[in-house]
Amino acid sequence: MPQPVSHADPRPGRVTRVVSALTEHHLDALLVTGAANIRYLTGFSGSSALLLVTPRELLFLTDFRYDTQVKEEVGDLARVRIENVSLWTGLWEELSSQPKTAVIGFESSNVMHRDFSRFLHEAEGGRWQWRPQSGIVETLREAKDPGEVARIEQAADVATHALHATIPQIRPGLTELQVAGILEKALRDHGSEAYPFETIVASGPRSALPHARASQRTVERGDFVLLDFGAQVDGYCSDITRTFVIGRADAQQREIYQIVREANELAIAGIRPGMTGADADALARDYIAGRGYGDDFGHSLGHGLGLEVHEAPRVSRTSSTTLPVHTVVTVEPGIYRAGWGGVRIEDDVYVLPDGVRVLTDFTHDLLELPA
Ligand code: ZN
Ligand code: ZN
Repeated sequence: MPQPVSHADPRPGRVTRVVSALTEHHLDALLVTGAANIRYLTGFSGSSALLLVTPRELLFLTDFRYDTQVKEEVGDLARVRIENVSLWTGLWEELSSQPKTAVIGFESSNVMHRDFSRFLHEAEGGRWQWRPQSGIVETLREAKDPGEVARIEQAADVATHALHATIPQIRPGLTELQVAGILEKALRDHGSEAYPFETIVASGPRSALPHARASQRTVERGDFVLLDFGAQVDGYCSDITRTFVIGRADAQQREIYQIVREANELAIAGIRPGMTGADADALARDYIAGRGYGDDFGHSLGHGLGLEVHEAPRVSRTSSTTLPVHTVVTVEPGIYRAGWGGVRIEDDVYVLPDGVRVLTDFTHDLLELPA
């Protein structure tokens, strides 16, 4: 079972970095609306909140359902305002009492259109200006502190233990949905507080669909079975994929599996901080292309991992941003052949100054399950 992680409170330092970013972006305040960003800055794990960051204070608005939770999780880090009707109404009241014109950034990726329309309407009075921003808090979240890495590693351990518990139960005749049910129960049994994304169980030709969900298809002898799933511990996610064969693998299955494995291991050996996402992606992609399967690897090598299962930094062909030291990303090359099947091997890695540490401790050997 996951153990609690003890470490100094990281929140004040994170807030200080957002306040520094306000100056860089010529803002008087930032309205934070993304749930993961709010959790990162305040510790609040509920779903209904607004956070206004100014150099003078943090203003935290939530609704009456979270009265107790906000005291426990946010404490005295912020000035908390509990609303009975609308968080937005509370926000306008607060802003109206501000003495001067203010330039307020808002998170363009994390605001509903109806709320944005209201920003514009309220702004007509001229007392404040709204500036769309993207990625201020998300960029700070890329490099993880030790407490965050410990939680991701716990989530990875929950996932690998659940996989060990599931494998002996996979047999021909079960549907993909039944396999997903066994795996999801094992995730819960080992302490996962949620499923960070829908568990993928894709067998036979369906393993060629990179984002197949589990279906009513029955697993059969000779199939690839691809499992892509994650666990969540204290808000932090893991994300792992392994591909097995039911019965003996044939020559083509072995060949393709081996190429994907080598691509995964080349990327893990080669990733360094300061590399662009595109350079990291190329470590695996160039190898797969060199082996003649370039057209069959249609997605990115990976993505950042943390409070969200897909977050910055991107690890893709088109990403020119660099990987910061202490970020956590996935490495998940795959080869997919329509009508035949596919293989993906995904690990979570912690980027250190001289290489990466793999957090998902599970063999890369091709496992042949009893048919
Ligand atoms: Zn995955
Ligand atoms: Zn992934």
